[in-house]
Amino acid sequence: MYMIETRDLYFSYPDGTQVLKGINLKVKKGDMVALLGPNGVGKTTLFLHFNGILKPTKGEVLVKGEPIKYNKEGLLKVRKTVGIVFQNPDDQIFAPTVAEDVAFGPLNLGLPKDEVERRVKEALKAVGLEGFENKPPHHLSGGQKKRVAIAGILAMEPEVIVLDEPTAGLDPIGASKIMKLLYDLNKKGITIIISTHDVDLVPVYADNVYVMYGGKILKEGSPKEVFSDVETIRKANLRLPRVAHLVEILNKKDKIPIEMGYTIGDVRKNLLNYIKEKC
Ligand code: ADP
Repeated sequence: MYMIETRDLYFSYPDGTQVLKGINLKVKKGDMVALLGPNGVGKTTLFLHFNGILKPTKGEVLVKGEPIKYNKEGLLKVRKTVGIVFQNPDDQIFAPTVAEDVAFGPLNLGLPKDEVERRVKEALKAVGLEGFENKPPHHLSGGQKKRVAIAGILAMEPEVIVLDEPTAGLDPIGASKIMKLLYDLNKKGITIIISTHDVDLVPVYADNVYVMYGGKILKEGSPKEVFSDVETIRKANLRLPRVAHLVEILNKKDKIPIEMGYTIGDVRKNLLNYIKEKC
């Protein structure tokens, strides 16, 4: 059984723009999955299908093995399992204080007050925002707002969190911190699906990568499998991670035949192995 599965999913917007053209995707429990593609290829549109905000024109979406039912009851059930964090936190955060914002979802579920308080406390702790309860969200930095949005979803205690471009608009430190947070949440058992065009981040964090282009999945596999297929990466208007370029230059220009790697850690290991063999 998969947490999320799409079968031959097609979607067109009411103005006739055909965006998704036969998407097949399977996400296992506990995975950290990256949907990789440049802007405008349909990543957000696909994500909005994962908790029933959009309904396929053709094909189906299954959550924990069951096709989504697009009635009130069915959608409520799906939204308890799958939480979506939008790209722009300002689309998600609207309450006057951080605590009220995080409490909004659980209150809407009709949970008792002490349970809501427990969830808010735990969610803010998980994202490192203890002590921010009474702050107005619009006074926070981009990274902090992103954390509030994530806390709001965590407070719903979902099994899957879907994040649209979680590092967009953040500086490099802010982006790394958010990715580390998602990594930690994933290690606690939450299935994480992110969309991104950041090829340098993907191999560091993702178990499984889907390359998306023109409303289709061009390739699926481990970061190593995906980035080894340079032709597909170029076809999808992406590039290799920077460290892979460095290895290419070392191999071709400098004739240093170290093994290819896609993260700094891997390249370091391969370089150390090469030095050990030579000395
Ligand atoms: P990505 O997330 O990969 O940047 P999107 O899913 O946002 O891609 O957009 C895919 C395509 O769908 C784009 O061509 C975009 O212009 C179009 N699109 C997005 N939203 C709408 C809408 N509400 N109506 C019509 N076209 C849309």
